Amino acid sequence: MEAPFIREEIQELEAKGLRRSLREVSGPQGKEIILDGRKVLNFCSNNYLGLADDPRLIQSAVNSLKQEGFGSGASRLVCGNMESHRKLEEALAKFKKIERCLFFASGYMANVGIISALFDREDVVFSDKLNHASIIDGIILSRAQFKRYPHNDMMALGEGLKSASQYRKRLIITDSVFSMDGDFAPLQEIVRLAKKYGAFVMVDEAHAFGVFGKNGRGLVEHLGLEGQVDIQMGTLSKAAGAFGAYCCGSNELIELILNRARSFIYTTGLPSSVAAAAEKAVEIIAAEPERRRQLLKNADAVRAGLKAIGFDTMASQTPIVPVLIKDAVLAVEFSKKLLDQGIFVQAIRPPTVPVGSARLRVTAMATHTSEDLERLLKSMREVGRELLRL
Ligand code: PMP
Repeated sequence: MEAPFIREEIQELEAKGLRRSLREVSGPQGKEIILDGRKVLNFCSNNYLGLADDPRLIQSAVNSLKQEGFGSGASRLVCGNMESHRKLEEALAKFKKIERCLFFASGYMANVGIISALFDREDVVFSDKLNHASIIDGIILSRAQFKRYPHNDMMALGEGLKSASQYRKRLIITDSVFSMDGDFAPLQEIVRLAKKYGAFVMVDEAHAFGVFGKNGRGLVEHLGLEGQVDIQMGTLSKAAGAFGAYCCGSNELIELILNRARSFIYTTGLPSSVAAAAEKAVEIIAAEPERRRQLLKNADAVRAGLKAIGFDTMASQTPIVPVLIKDAVLAVEFSKKLLDQGIFVQAIRPPTVPVGSARLRVTAMATHTSEDLERLLKSMREVGRELLRL
């Protein structure tokens, strides 16, 4: 397609510092990666526990490939529901101490499918302004009234709920750990407001599963709220180092989602090998709490080090440590200069984050050593001095 608008729009993205491009990784995803042919230290992965290249996950996938082949051939509701899908769902339900789990093809598809399966025109959804794009798309697809509240603003949420009694159902939905700010949602207050106003609560644990809670079950566990959140989803693509996503809840809830979620019904089941690797990851998360302890220790060290240099790490409390730059062009330049020093930290720009809040998103991993962290901080200090006069 050669229409002029295409070139114009690309040029506009370029001029605003918002053009995105793909970089290529060869070899496995670890704390060090080969990026466009060059070895760099990776500080932008969600592979928090370092499981993405764990030999045990790989072996599980290989065993499954040999026994079950690769493709699953059809939707899970036709003939694509493989034994490994059921096994993963059972393992997850047991781990999460919840009646039932459903395995989705990705976190994006889970959010889009779950919300639109359960809510419609007669309902209202209250959504934090910084919720993930997949939540926003799910709400739009559901056609429910879409009410955004300012980030973590419980006064505004309470006010909104107070005047929402005319709707048939009310849903409050939030990331538990915000993906670009690295802060927590005030889940206790959300649960309290939901009880007061008769609303359902759905929590996206994408960045908390495997990371928070004594057993790694997520922020809901960490805050002692198990049994009080109606719908929990999370992905297996981040701390679990695998792929796909889960939705957990009551038997009936999952039964309805299974019957209604179009992103579940109308897509081919994930390859068995993916489910088998994810199941192994759940087992490792349960058995190796030292991984998340190390991760949180590393995250604290990164945050403290960046703050000491003079960076604004916003309200981060997690392995996601934003470094606020504000200007998109400057954020990209900062990232490029870090890469020149062999440190890979992505610049995050609008529309992923609000205009004027471009940032570097530094993520810690359990597998980073103290020398790795020192290298990061040294480079951040040097580039910060040069570009921001810190
Ligand atoms: N929810 C949140 C909060 C996320 O950060 C992401 C991943 N970026 C997703 C959902 C989507 O998950 P997946 O990558 O498995 O599609």
